[in-house]
Amino acid sequence: MVSRVIPVDPFDLVIFGGTGDLARRKILPALYRRFRDGQMPEEARIIGAARTNQDGAAWRAWVREAFDEFLRPDEISDDVVAAFLERLDYLAIDATGDGGWSDLKDKMRDDVTQAFYFSVGPSLFGALAERLHNHGIAREGARIVVEKPFGRDLDSACALNATLAEHFDETQIYRIDHYLGKETVQNLMAVRFGNVLFEPLWNAQYVDSVQITVAEEVSVAGRGAYYDRSGAMRDMVQNHLMQLLCLTAMEPPSRFDPDAVRDEKLKVIRALDPVEPSDIVRGQYDDGMGPSYIDDVEDPASRTESFIAMKLHIANWRWNGTPFYLRTGKRLKARKSEIVVTFKEPPHSIFDADAGSRANVLSIRLQPDEGMDLRVTIKEPGPGGMRLVDVPLDMSFAEALGPEAEHVPDAYERLIMDVIRGNQTLFMRGDEVEAAWAWTDPIIAAWKERGDKPVTYEAGSSGPEEALMLLHRDGRRWREIS
Ligand code: NAD
Repeated sequence: MVSRVIPVDPFDLVIFGGTGDLARRKILPALYRRFRDGQMPEEARIIGAARTNQDGAAWRAWVREAFDEFLRPDEISDDVVAAFLERLDYLAIDATGDGGWSDLKDKMRDDVTQAFYFSVGPSLFGALAERLHNHGIAREGARIVVEKPFGRDLDSACALNATLAEHFDETQIYRIDHYLGKETVQNLMAVRFGNVLFEPLWNAQYVDSVQITVAEEVSVAGRGAYYDRSGAMRDMVQNHLMQLLCLTAMEPPSRFDPDAVRDEKLKVIRALDPVEPSDIVRGQYDDGMGPSYIDDVEDPASRTESFIAMKLHIANWRWNGTPFYLRTGKRLKARKSEIVVTFKEPPHSIFDADAGSRANVLSIRLQPDEGMDLRVTIKEPGPGGMRLVDVPLDMSFAEALGPEAEHVPDAYERLIMDVIRGNQTLFMRGDEVEAAWAWTDPIIAAWKERGDKPVTYEAGSSGPEEALMLLHRDGRRWREIS
């Protein structure tokens, strides 16, 4: 079962930062896959722009090399790659300089959709927006795509929003959170709002608790300097985990339309109670054998967290009394992201006490193996009387999509096509980002004021003991990270 591919309209996409890591790792492979599957029309064009002085042929050769690294061998067909590369062009442009802009203007066509991907550090967003405007390059309706980090606190996020707003309308700005492009995350909305089965139970009366985990195996080695200025709260919770929380907890929007969905997400952020210090655990990995966090960031006095676990309350009618537990960290046991909704046990059991009774659990897996499973209780097979067991109703997307589907589409494939289609549903609106920072800032400020020091956890473990206790004291347990 493969969904029908509907080609997008012809476009000119300019990738500022076209020689960067994100371009070669994610953006260009995603575009190639959409081209291969027939979603990118013949008339589409991609223009790389960066400071490196090189011609189009040199950039195309670099892109070709990147494909060998970031596409699976079976995805590469020489003919398709050659046809894709024909759509690529390059211009040497310094975001802060004046050269190259008139060449870019000459290359842009009048009758196609325009998109500008700012795959550069946020300090260049203002310079790019201004030049696109002043040189008369960006037409009305042109789209700009910006990457995380979108600010490091409320003030800087507001400043970035204000800078972009000088030249672009909110309807033109696509703030990427690639978690929102994941197939499973969209499926969370499909499951919640496309079935009658879940929504009546999706509230504090029937949901015991929700866990959201984004666990990574990797350390921060190699990007320690950047990470140490940010930490798990800024790098993961304020954006990715917050977005997952919003989609899990939001009210049904009236339509599947960008502002209707984003209005509901915003209400969730605004309904979050302040978090008690005792409901937060911060950790730093410590590896007796290899480098510890402080070695990776080269600051023995660092108080930045590489792990965070927290218990949140959403102060509204739907969720009053249901805790949401969030957890994310580096150098954990496994790479695993999931949302787990644990329902309450049946209010009364008609079976013998020793029959056993279990709560239904819906797990939404983001990685690896995107999919969902719902654990339901059935009778243990066999003649041995009424004993209950829970079994999974499992839906792996890779399996469900069938053998023709080579892969579950990467988030960037979906999101870039949405930019061209002009659909902002899966992108963060400026006020959402600001509300998330407004919630995050006081928490970080309080750590600083109290001089909080993260606890240590063993590299390769499930995180600090204190994080396990956060749930134990409520009579709950985290799901295994495995
Ligand atoms: P990078 O350092 O690898 O690449 C930066 C790119 O910007 C290069 O092409 C460079 O030539 C270009 N550039 C720098 N200064 C410029 C200037 N003055 N004028 C024109 N071009 C200039 O960075 P990256 O990893 O590709 O990240 C780009 C953005 O995406 C950053 O904001 C980063 O935080 C974000 N991001 C990256 C990743 C990732 O996996 N790499 C993931 C999420 C977000």
